[in-house]
Amino acid sequence: MKKYDKELKRLIRARTKNFPRALALGLQWVSLGYSSALYFAGKKIGKEVISNEIKTKDIKEILKQTSKIFSSMGIGTLSTKSINRKQAVLILKNGTTANGMAKIGKTVCYFEAGLISGILEGKLKKTFNVSETRCGGLGDSMEEFVVNL
Ligand SMILES: [Zn+2]
Repeated sequence: MKKYDKELKRLIRARTKNFPRALALGLQWVSLGYSSALYFAGKKIGKEVISNEIKTKDIKEILKQTSKIFSSMGIGTLSTKSINRKQAVLILKNGTTANGMAKIGKTVCYFEAGLISGILEGKLKKTFNVSETRCGGLGDSMEEFVVNL
């Protein structure tokens, strides 16, 4: 049995109140395309819904407002670790999808990465690649996303 199957079964049997994680792991279980499905769903929502609520074109301010929206949606506490011309590194603490999960050897927060990408694209009118470099699924205590600027 694969590690993510095991984690999914543990999650369900323990009646854990974590629907987002069950969704992410369930998609991994049934489909090879789960990562892009979650990423593109997040990206579409970020671009077409959330970015319309943000009224600035300053990237630092966009990230600040994104953090407020993430908090109010219960996604977790998002902060900017560093930002320069080439990339921004974002940290998500208490992320709803992966915080406290078993180490399954994979990243799982594709939806969140897609949201960040879509919000930035919606505001700044260019494509942003967002990859997750630390994750509860890898055994990390937080999520880390690298945004190529
Ligand atoms: Zn993660």
